[in-house]
Amino acid sequence: MIAQEVKKEDLDPFDIAVKQLEKAAKVIKLDKQALELLKEPQQILQVRIPVKMDNGETKVFTGFRVHYNNARGPVKGGIRFHPEENLSTVKALSAWMTWKTAIVDIPLGGAKGGVICDTKKMSAGELERLSRGYIRAIGEFVGPEVDIPAPDVYTTPQIMAWMMDEYEMIVRKSAPGMITGKPIELGGSLGRGDATARGGMFVLREAAKKNNIDLSKAKVAVQGFGNAGQFAVRLIQEMFGSKVVAVSDTKGGIYLESGIKYKDLMDYKAKNGTVSGFPGSKKISNEELLELGVDVLVPAAIENQLTAANADKVKAKIILELANGPTTPDADEIFYKKGIILLPDFLANSGGVTVSYFEWAQDISGYFWSEEEVYKRLDEKLTKATKEVLDTSKNLKIDTRTAAYTISIKRVADAMKLRGWY
Ligand code: NAD
Repeated sequence: MIAQEVKKEDLDPFDIAVKQLEKAAKVIKLDKQALELLKEPQQILQVRIPVKMDNGETKVFTGFRVHYNNARGPVKGGIRFHPEENLSTVKALSAWMTWKTAIVDIPLGGAKGGVICDTKKMSAGELERLSRGYIRAIGEFVGPEVDIPAPDVYTTPQIMAWMMDEYEMIVRKSAPGMITGKPIELGGSLGRGDATARGGMFVLREAAKKNNIDLSKAKVAVQGFGNAGQFAVRLIQEMFGSKVVAVSDTKGGIYLESGIKYKDLMDYKAKNGTVSGFPGSKKISNEELLELGVDVLVPAAIENQLTAANADKVKAKIILELANGPTTPDADEIFYKKGIILLPDFLANSGGVTVSYFEWAQDISGYFWSEEEVYKRLDEKLTKATKEVLDTSKNLKIDTRTAAYTISIKRVADAMKLRGWY
């Protein structure tokens, strides 16, 4: 097959989210009115946040908070601090959060937020004032029974702590359940740090089991070495004994046939700020990494990495999408035809929001669980969700992303129907 050209308009995140929704809606013959309700967010808030900078000047930042759908419960989703943040991305991510909370069947809806800013150019004091300013601006839009934010790209447990503190000053009462991903000392949950990658491992384990793939003999490539990618490299070795042969970051990739040890790579990255140049490895590009002859490919970096331009060159048997939106709809079709088992983002990376849900549940009940308890419940939730997705894909003869969508959409549509929204 000749690689197709990828047009920029094919990569708009919200257009992709709507295309995916429409494809699955057709499969389950979703009611027209339900589809109409699900094609746009329920509420969009755009705010301007004045922040006193260290030099005494006031800088005004733009922020967003989008509530996609709350039929199944209070909405939930992260806050991104990113220089290229934009409404289309926030809307798409809020839609994906809706499908994500539905696929793992937790009683929450979907939301997302973001502020256009470059955290690398801000002092700790400026970041604190921006975080507090954002919560003052969206204060009426959030709360433990309304909308529960969480950390995401370039936001941290410390930022969550400032946001919770600001919110509590506004409402003048304790409200740890208003935000998740907090430090343990302030009501955070054990097991939240590596929850996304750990959840992904449970999803991978189920998919491998169903397809008779022996993970102890598997070769793995991981794109991205941040929060999701680093824990994936560690856990896939620890839990299954798989061999990670390639890893990458923004500076490019490394390949080592004999396997890359997690601890050695972490030490190297701590000293050098990148995985590039890891001793004994061969330098490869990010594009080459995606096309390696491995058993498992883990995109754990950014969106739109697997497109019509490279999908037919992908050789992995399983793709575990820890990143959000790494595959375009065209690439999905190609993978399905090639028989590649794709574990879609809103299932594969749902471990983060699942443990966030556990954190919220612990905060509002005031009773905290052990790490083993968190892992056990996470395993149960994700194993069940994975089985449902793989069975639906097989029974309806549809790709796994569409299968996951059909389950989530039906759950949200049923809740809307019961509420009398259509
Ligand atoms: P991060 O910022 O910690 O790490 C991102 C990594 O990707 C970095 O190593 C960076 O160098 C690398 N990267 C960036 N652009 C790249 C490129 N073009 N090619 C190769 N590598 C590149 O972010 P993260 O928290 O690990 O998130 C990664 C992805 O996983 C995102 O799509 C995010 O939305 C998704 N995700 C993360 C979580 C979580 O809990 N961290 C939860 C759900 C989804």
